[in-house]
Amino acid sequence: MDLYEYQARDLFEKHGVPVLPAAIATTADEAEAAAIKVGGKVVVKAQVKVGGRGKAGGVKLAVDPADAREKASAILGMDIKGHEVRTVMIAAAAPIESEYYLAILLDRSNRTFLVMASVAGGMEIEEVAHTAPEKLAKIPVDSNVGIDLARANEIIAAAKFPADVADQVASVLVKLWETFVSEDATLVEVNPLVKTSDGKIIALDGKVTLDDNAGFRHPDHEALVDQAAENALEAAAKAKNLNYVKLEGQVGIIGNGAGLVMSTLDVVAYAGEKFGGVRPANFLDIGGGASAQVMADGLSIILGDKDVKSVFVNVFGGITACDAVANGIVQALELLGAQATKPIVVRLDGNNVVEGRAILTAAAHPLVEQLDTMDGAANRAAELAAK
Ligand code: GDP
Ligand code: MN
Repeated sequence: MDLYEYQARDLFEKHGVPVLPAAIATTADEAEAAAIKVGGKVVVKAQVKVGGRGKAGGVKLAVDPADAREKASAILGMDIKGHEVRTVMIAAAAPIESEYYLAILLDRSNRTFLVMASVAGGMEIEEVAHTAPEKLAKIPVDSNVGIDLARANEIIAAAKFPADVADQVASVLVKLWETFVSEDATLVEVNPLVKTSDGKIIALDGKVTLDDNAGFRHPDHEALVDQAAENALEAAAKAKNLNYVKLEGQVGIIGNGAGLVMSTLDVVAYAGEKFGGVRPANFLDIGGGASAQVMADGLSIILGDKDVKSVFVNVFGGITACDAVANGIVQALELLGAQATKPIVVRLDGNNVVEGRAILTAAAHPLVEQLDTMDGAANRAAELAAK
């Protein structure tokens, strides 16, 4: 589960990572009240689970509570990369002298934990990683040893932090490691970690991903789940009698048969590793039949999920033959019309596969791409989602 910035901030505070006073608001009134409570100049920040809010206009300085109200009413309701802003965080403004980058993550492909650190933090960090990778230090962490102060000092020196902040940054890194381990996170990222004009190091923006598999150890994490976002789609699916479970990835999944859909989730998660950790967005079993209406209902739920960037339809024709499913897909896309906006990768196999594939080929829908194998299609869907 990815956390909102304000939730990450609270976890940081709990573990002693330096943060500034802040409060959240869902209306302009609340924003003004929050600004009064925080006091002084504040920053109004869109709370959406996507990066690049600053560049999208979702982070604004406000000089006083009235200004905070104005900035909040402009930001609330904004659409940032398909995410509607329903909450803003009002945080004390920091006088920034330098912006750094510090993260700990689970590096699955190398089977290790990894610290990433850079003195060139801020909104251009992705650019830095591409154009000047030497400015982003990547240092593996032995999970049996972890990060104590001595190790943190080594890492911070290797990342070439200036001497005047090295001690403070090392101490923050130790606390981030404690956060990472004790909360069972797979990502803890601070960007920017700032040096203020009076020389203090503060985490100004946080991104945390918690490992849901460790949820049983953390009853308090249940409260961090975004009920409003998750339940809307599940309720809509339930109303249409669809066997749907919202997950947190970007590849929408439709398949027939629970077993096939479950293995599709695994295959997509595996393929997604190559594309920066793309994951399946849902479980959806349309069962036998796969009529146009059921296919259209399924597609419309999945396309209504703002996190979905591509769709993978994985069908094995058994009692319902592939030609019937292919017709269902073609008619579903006619029913959906302009509502269908994302690339759809289809893999058909089994009964009447030749006829089924021919129907999709003949329809030549611009969003639909066919692949012959489950692995190939999973790979393509993950690739499209990562674009
Ligand atoms: P992101 O764009 O989604 O990563 O949002 P951030 O929270 O990182 O904010 C983007 C940028 O806004 C930061 O890199 C800072 O330059 C700026 N910013 C955020 N908070 C403050 C603040 O308290 N004071 C000042 N002066 N700038 C801030
Ligand atoms: Mn940031």
